[in-house]
Amino acid sequence: MARIVMKFGGTSMAGLERIRAAAERVKREAEAGNEVAVVVSAMAGETDRLVNFCREAAPLHDSSEYDVVVSSGEQVTAGLLAIVLQSMGLQARSWLGWQMPLHTSPTHAAARIRGMATERVVESMQAGVIATIPGFQGLAETGRVTTLGRGGSDTSAVAVAAALKADRCDIYTDVDGVYTTDPRIVPRARKLEKITFEEMLELASVGAKVLQTRSVELAMKEKVKLRVLSSFRDAPGTDIVSEEEIGHLMEDQLITGIAYSRDEAEVTLTRVADKPGAVAAIFKPLAKHEVNVDMIIQNIADAEGRTDVTFTIARSEIPRVMEMLAAAREEIGYENLSYDDKVSKLSVVGVGMKSHTGVASTMFSALGERGINIASISTSEIKISVLIAEEYIELAVRVLHSAYGLDSPDVDETA
Ligand code: ADP
Ligand code: ASP
Ligand code: MG
Repeated sequence: MARIVMKFGGTSMAGLERIRAAAERVKREAEAGNEVAVVVSAMAGETDRLVNFCREAAPLHDSSEYDVVVSSGEQVTAGLLAIVLQSMGLQARSWLGWQMPLHTSPTHAAARIRGMATERVVESMQAGVIATIPGFQGLAETGRVTTLGRGGSDTSAVAVAAALKADRCDIYTDVDGVYTTDPRIVPRARKLEKITFEEMLELASVGAKVLQTRSVELAMKEKVKLRVLSSFRDAPGTDIVSEEEIGHLMEDQLITGIAYSRDEAEVTLTRVADKPGAVAAIFKPLAKHEVNVDMIIQNIADAEGRTDVTFTIARSEIPRVMEMLAAAREEIGYENLSYDDKVSKLSVVGVGMKSHTGVASTMFSALGERGINIASISTSEIKISVLIAEEYIELAVRVLHSAYGLDSPDVDETA
């Protein structure tokens, strides 16, 4: 007998038929003698619908009321799953964020999990009752409901698994594992049997939304046994493992995966004074308002000691950032301020990069041969990211997937 956490995403909860199919999987695990807690997402599209209601109600709305609205999607699916399980003759009970309670920071719309009370849930699970838990939501010490940021149910599931000391956390989704890249845009993508936490973390943080970045971070820290698998068919999924566990696979493989993000924008300030403090003056207001800056490029100064500074941010931050930089014009001392929001980021990730050379040059030549221009580059020990025009992103992912020899031989795209 084991204690397991199963998490079902939005597509797996989209309507009663799908909820019934998920319930069948839960039933199988429960009837095998396991104690089961199920973390659920809202029905696919529901959270977007709720977010839009808030935006339409008022563009600048109170984020604690936003959380009241958007957390409701998961309440519905947690309750429905409990009803369906009960109708199948099983015992089930839902536990909302405030009932458990699952404690978070009070940062509305981006709350962080601080801990949770598990005594009552464990007692109930030990008595044979399946726990259904809405993902994405929690309770701040202010007494208000919070949400964890988009895609946050993955993080809820890992946090519940850690708190319940579960033997494993299975993430059921609409693909049957983690692939070398998004299988929706590259049919030749290959399913990975295993991937390291480190690589999964990098892939998630640069756009592979199959797992929320924070869920991987938490699983790595709490040593949660994490797996991604299909809610629609029985197939072996992908295990997220430590570097030691992956063993020889790592040596052979140069690149493990490719990810992309369309949620990018590039901001340029021209003729900034090339003197100490000038760059700090640009980023000070951004840091104060918690704007995340990703890539930064500063050009070589011209004869008059002036330089252009370019950096990237999330596309949704453009209005705020343009306002901040316009207000700080005098202090920074730039000539012109502009942005480009038709850019996307493409990243290749692999622990093999630590011990192999030539990864970057393969990338640059493959993109160059297709006439795809690189606007900026950033690297980490196991990742290289480039910024390119958005219109080329899908082509670029496919080109690199082939260039690194990742294409599956089993799929004929012309078929
Ligand atoms: P859920 O609603 O179950 O949380 P998501 O839509 O958040 O599901 O995540 C699953 C999606 O992630 C897949 O449908 C797929 O398009 C996308 N995806 C992006 N990169 C990858 C990858 N490398 N491997 C698998 N899926 C990926
Ligand atoms: N329903 C939330 C979202 O769409 C959380 C999740 O599905 O993980 O972002
Ligand atoms: Mg998701």
